[in-house]
Amino acid sequence: MPNILINFIPIDFHCHSNHSDGALPVKELLNLAKSNGSKYIALTDHDTVDGVSEARAYANEIGLGFIGGVEISVTWTGNTLIHILGLNVDETNEELVNNLAIMRNSRIDRGRRIASNLAKIGIPNAFEGAMAYCENAKALSRTHFNRFLIDNGYAKPGKAFDKYLAPGKPGYVVQQWASLEGAIKWITNSGGIAVIAHPSRYKFTRTKLLRLIDEFKQYGGRGIEVVSSSHSRDDVMNIAHIAKLTGLLSSIGSDFHNIEANFKRILVGVNPPLPETCQPIYTEFGITL
Ligand code: AMP
Ligand code: MN
Ligand code: MN
Ligand code: MN
Repeated sequence: MPNILINFIPIDFHCHSNHSDGALPVKELLNLAKSNGSKYIALTDHDTVDGVSEARAYANEIGLGFIGGVEISVTWTGNTLIHILGLNVDETNEELVNNLAIMRNSRIDRGRRIASNLAKIGIPNAFEGAMAYCENAKALSRTHFNRFLIDNGYAKPGKAFDKYLAPGKPGYVVQQWASLEGAIKWITNSGGIAVIAHPSRYKFTRTKLLRLIDEFKQYGGRGIEVVSSSHSRDDVMNIAHIAKLTGLLSSIGSDFHNIEANFKRILVGVNPPLPETCQPIYTEFGITL
């Protein structure tokens, strides 16, 4: 097998620490990125910028280029969950920090509702069980329930979402996250660029994706993730085409969470390159390859 790193570029604008549902503390995450050959990284934890200042300082210390980031959960068109990345956000911006704090608080109550749904189908103590994988209840994520369910034999690795946690399954609870307009406003007002995360994962029709992009641009959104570990080669080419058609900047992200559950062998800090037709988002941050 050829060395998969040969064609990689040293940029990663999407990854998670244990401030959300990643397994690694900030410093370990950045050390791992650096050892993979990374030169530029954005930390994009779910609905929080709590890790950003520590990450920025540590990245400076070890000589890694750093971009402050966040991945905001958005409820679009009534009940569809999508993720919007904010790249180059100011982690001290009050509007951003205060609104994310409200979102984070709602995770505790949602976690209790997920656990109570699981208890009804014979899975007791899931709140405490999921919390064992999570430092802070405000970060409590379906990812932590996923680990609890697998480690306790309720589902095989990779199957707990399909069985319990995905929309329509017994452990799923409907949650109102941020609005698309709100999330883009918080990001943009704090100096950041809003980016649609892993668009192919939503399984939208082309018409629906174009409708999302249209709305997203009206509110000031400027980028779309083209290279993502959620995307197949065909997805990358399809989204690259849509990025060009709609004039969006193209972003790149591993969406790395943890090493153990890494059956796809996702590397943090490095990624396959963008197709040549793309206008890379990293040039907006003064990065050239
Ligand atoms: P939450 O923000 O609590 O709703 O959790 C969403 C997180 O769960 C995402 O950020 C992913 O890390 C993870 N996730 C979502 N769907 C899946 C899936 N089908 N398989 C594995 N992880 C998933
Ligand atoms: Mn996640
Ligand atoms: Mn996501
Ligand atoms: Mn992510």
